[in-house]
Amino acid sequence: MKLDNLTFNGGVNVPHYKGLTEKLTLEKALEPEIVNIPLHQHTGAPCEPLVKVGDKVKIGQKIGQSEAFVSAPVHSSVSGVVKGITRMAIPTGLTVNCVIIESDGMNELYESVKPKGSLEDLSSKEIIEIIKEAGITGMGGAGFPAHVKFSPPSDKKIDTILVNGAECEPYLTADHRLMVEEPEKIVIGLKTIMKAVGVDNGIIGIENNKPDAIKALKEASKDEKNIKVVSLKVKYPQGDEKRLINAILGREVPSGGLPMDVGAVVSNISTTKAIAEAIIEGKPLYERVVTVTGNGINEPKNLIAKIGTPFKDLIEQCGGFKEGAPGKIIMGGPMMGLSQYTIDIPIIKGSGGILVLTEEEAKPAPIEPCIRCGKCLEVCPVKLQPLHLSKYSLKGMFDKTEKFHALDCVECGACSYICPAKRPLVESIRMAKREIIAKRKRNR
Ligand code: SF4
Ligand code: SF4
Repeated sequence: MKLDNLTFNGGVNVPHYKGLTEKLTLEKALEPEIVNIPLHQHTGAPCEPLVKVGDKVKIGQKIGQSEAFVSAPVHSSVSGVVKGITRMAIPTGLTVNCVIIESDGMNELYESVKPKGSLEDLSSKEIIEIIKEAGITGMGGAGFPAHVKFSPPSDKKIDTILVNGAECEPYLTADHRLMVEEPEKIVIGLKTIMKAVGVDNGIIGIENNKPDAIKALKEASKDEKNIKVVSLKVKYPQGDEKRLINAILGREVPSGGLPMDVGAVVSNISTTKAIAEAIIEGKPLYERVVTVTGNGINEPKNLIAKIGTPFKDLIEQCGGFKEGAPGKIIMGGPMMGLSQYTIDIPIIKGSGGILVLTEEEAKPAPIEPCIRCGKCLEVCPVKLQPLHLSKYSLKGMFDKTEKFHALDCVECGACSYICPAKRPLVESIRMAKREIIAKRKRNR
């Protein structure tokens, strides 16, 4: 098996701005006075609150859960007092119930936060239950509950667990720093997933622009005969899980399919580290690394922030905005991140970064007519026809976009990036996907 410079078809080379934070060690965010913890920050059913106004809570205490299988409980990230449960906007664009907790600054741990035993002694079923109880969801953005992902149906034969260390978004360095600073935990997390799914083969894929991370993980896994570290060519969107599978295993996930259809399960770096902590410390997912970066911020940092911390607290800790008003604030990276209209919103489990662009950087380019250059077709990693999908979507011909496989679009934005006419390709295809899904729901 080839171990270096692996890649996939299509994709684009984007300029990287990781230099702002890639050498900065992880730093604890300041203790927030108030956290607003959303009861729905994952794919699946929202949680119901387990606490009421006036209750005292501790760090790691479960404060919300659902009986649904596809859901993930939420935990308090501070010790303090519940001040309210109210509907608030969160960075995904939804308005959901949030538990407002005033921190007492004592950082008292809840009694259940304690080691769960050695990996050798835990059964696959016990590991899945620990992951579920710890509220772990995919931390790369999608927020899919990890216990569901790691419980594939019995007719799906999984042979490989891939850990996604690509972090191909141009500004983000949260996963990079974790790989450099906590490689042992990532290896333990991978071994945990391998045992949970019953698989002997684990591979960690890292883009070539992080040689220190590749070195650290090779060193941390040198005694693990079932784990390999491979390097990936720097190309966007290498971090898309289907592209990762294609680059490393040479397998193509079919249209409408999932990684499990080709025998693979993919886990993000932050998620894998959170899984290790759930086992060895009994720690639920109540904090995460957030890269606060961009040319619009005074002092970029990689912060370990508690879930529910307002964006504005982290921005303040990073010296605030440069040049007054920012041009654009994004949760995540510039390619797939979500634009925000306020900084009075909380960090959630999927918040890998806060990116602040200057007014100059955020100015939209004028949109010109399509010149049929075909560049968007060349770069689409899914082999779609972005120009046609976009044209049909803008004309409201959503049935046609469905026939042209709009739902396979992973919304990577490579087509929009490369388009010389600056057509709103990904935006219009996203709109088509929403319409197709809404129609399918209506027809159920
Ligand atoms: S890249 Fe832009 S201009 Fe070129 S074919 Fe696609 S939509 Fe048209
Ligand atoms: S059509 Fe979708 S998958 Fe293809 S390049 Fe555009 S955004 Fe990416």
